[in-house]
Amino acid sequence: MPVCSYCGSPIEPGQKFCTNCGAEITFDIQPEKEEIPPQPAPVINEVEERPTFEETVSQPPAYSETSYPQVSEPEKYDVKTIACAVLSFLFPFVGLILYFLWRSSKPRAASLCLGCAGASILLNGLMRLFG
Ligand SMILES: [Zn+2]
Repeated sequence: MPVCSYCGSPIEPGQKFCTNCGAEITFDIQPEKEEIPPQPAPVINEVEERPTFEETVSQPPAYSETSYPQVSEPEKYDVKTIACAVLSFLFPFVGLILYFLWRSSKPRAASLCLGCAGASILLNGLMRLFG
């Protein structure tokens, strides 16, 4: 980008005087050569972006149509849920808290944590009975 030699503000191609300080621009030939390469670049970007936008717009409906019947099935146990179930087993009160937290949003994960907490409490009771 050509710059005014007096104040340093950017100069547009073909400009004869600085818009900031009014100084005369003496280096007309060099700036015009520099300005030519950047101009084709934005045109290419616009052409490249258009097909990708159409692809992204057309994909979500296709995904939602196929995924909706699958989503209606009960939620899967992800790594976080399994980790929380293990945590519930190690610390039964954590399982009780998670059960009350997930009761409405994730009923299966909640019952799993409650089950692990209950199993842990039962095991602890048995160990105290026999130990
Ligand atoms: Zn200037």
